[in-house]
Amino acid sequence: MLQVKKLTVHYGVIQATKEVSFEVNEGEIVSLIGANGAGKSTILKALSGLHRPTSGEILYKGQPIQKETTKKIVELGISQVPEGRHVFGGMSVLENLEMGAYLRKDKSEIQKDLKMVFDRFPVLGERKKQDTATLSGGEQQMVAMGRALMSRPKLLLLDEPSMGLAPIFIKEIFNIIKMINEQGTTILLIEQNAKVALEIAHKGYVLETGKVVQSGTGQELLASDEVQKAYLGG
Ligand code: ATP
Repeated sequence: MLQVKKLTVHYGVIQATKEVSFEVNEGEIVSLIGANGAGKSTILKALSGLHRPTSGEILYKGQPIQKETTKKIVELGISQVPEGRHVFGGMSVLENLEMGAYLRKDKSEIQKDLKMVFDRFPVLGERKKQDTATLSGGEQQMVAMGRALMSRPKLLLLDEPSMGLAPIFIKEIFNIIKMINEQGTTILLIEQNAKVALEIAHKGYVLETGKVVQSGTGQELLASDEVQKAYLGG
């Protein structure tokens, strides 16, 4: 579904990623793990059309998208849930979710999808009129995910969904990610929390200073000595 080939990204003279290659097959959860500054967010920005790569190729269903606009990329079925929640404070939960469907015109289908989001995240249904800025971090993460789902993505890009959350919320969010995947959405997950990210991943890649240094199934990486030492405190 997604093939990233030798992706190199710069910010001015700073090289953030160097010839990164990885693949996401339809139906999979794929996790990219790595420490601060490894280049994880940069890869997502390139995939979403928010930052142009210097070189390399991004193929979505065989079609190069590295020069497409973000709007076009969303229309093709790729949606990003950004890091740090990035929900719209000052707007209600419902308004935030509706924003996720702004490219769609099928009103009755949008209503169905709103219901689907409230089924998946019952707490959002209870708080649909509440200002999103006053929600807890975990609830804001749910709004961000719900908003992305409102565009009916085929591929969902998640940027550090565990960040800033208490362990109990992390567990809840990751259960929901698994459920979204089981219901047919392919997922690319970027995480510093290697343990939770690899536990649910079909496949994973380890990034260090902008390069892929290891890959394997989630279970293989969890068991690997290098991953244990560097990311799991083992
Ligand atoms: P974190 O987990 O801390 O968010 P990350 O793996 O997502 O880290 P990136 O944010 O992709 O890492 O950053 C990769 C490298 O690119 C870092 O060295 C960072 O300092 C640099 N970088 C990121 N954004 C910019 C920018 N706008 N201008 C200059 N350098 C940047």
